Amino acid sequence: MLYEISEKAIQLENQGKKIIKFNLGDTDMPTPPEIVEAAYLAMKQGKTKYSSAAGEKKLREELASIHGVSVDNVVITAGSKWAIFSLMFLLLKKGENVVVPSPHWTSYELAARKVGAEPRFLKGDLESEWRIDVEKLVGLIDEKTRLIILNSPSNPTSKVVDEKTFGEIVQLAESRGVTVLSDEVYADISFVPAKSILDFGEDHILVNSFSKTFAMTGWRIGYAVVEEELAQRMIKLNQITTTCVPAFIQYGTLKGLESKRKIADDIREQFRLRADVAIKVLRKAGMKFARPDAPFYLFPKVEGLDSERFALDLLDRGVAVAPGTAFGDYREYFRIALTVGEEKVREGLETLCEALP
Ligand code: PMP
Repeated sequence: MLYEISEKAIQLENQGKKIIKFNLGDTDMPTPPEIVEAAYLAMKQGKTKYSSAAGEKKLREELASIHGVSVDNVVITAGSKWAIFSLMFLLLKKGENVVVPSPHWTSYELAARKVGAEPRFLKGDLESEWRIDVEKLVGLIDEKTRLIILNSPSNPTSKVVDEKTFGEIVQLAESRGVTVLSDEVYADISFVPAKSILDFGEDHILVNSFSKTFAMTGWRIGYAVVEEELAQRMIKLNQITTTCVPAFIQYGTLKGLESKRKIADDIREQFRLRADVAIKVLRKAGMKFARPDAPFYLFPKVEGLDSERFALDLLDRGVAVAPGTAFGDYREYFRIALTVGEEKVREGLETLCEALP
């Protein structure tokens, strides 16, 4: 359905219609110029050849120092999506399962199924502000459970897992011999402090990306922090698949890390302004949603809504959103990605509110 919406949006645009796109997690903000310049310079200096499947040593060293781990624990990947797929491919056997708090990013489900594993969803609810119910989580774990996936801040709810809950989940996982895969791609631009899995020890898995922190979605660069043996297996998988992330992209990213705080602050502030506008418009229309702890998303509920029908009809009015069914069993919800400027956010959401049944 996500694909159908995005194809229809493109078709309408090709017919000359103006579409305000809230349907994809890809911000309109440009990649910071210092990153682009550094990548270009690296290209001119000949960093255009095959390079290490583990990633450039300098970038791995910088990330190792940021996270307080050894360089042997860091693997650079073609986006965090590839890190997540690789990890599922390497860790899950057919018939095993992975537990995922829901609503969830669709790729966890698709990747798990692709490698023959069963995704098991812990249904959340808006009334509790999407808090993960650890008691209920226990009930989903059995001897075939290999991974619990945490995504804090979350796509699509933008909620952060609080420290106590995070700790309880890690403890539960450890008591049952399960690994936590923590996807923290929105953490560096979070509005509120977000705990990292590395705050709870080094026995689990961190996945991160530059797509959101540095507005680099199209560059395809992310990384994982894992134990050394697993890092070696990921590197081997890189060797037989993607080979490497282009070295010049890694040098651009390295430059970005020099001013990471400033870049992330800037992106966060722009999203905060957008979120403030969105919250006002949606509240005025009486919509129910949890206040976002982070960019990019809002995940409102409208009682009785068929969000797939709504998303398709709304496109004809020039606004694209993602139906809640793309994130689990959430037909009455839809996801708004605040990937356009404040004025467009206001215009698009006012149109959306008028279109509500
Ligand atoms: N994790 C989450 C939660 C995401 O929302 C996304 C992108 N939408 C990704 C991972 C993948 O990001 P990338 O592959 O660009 O690093």
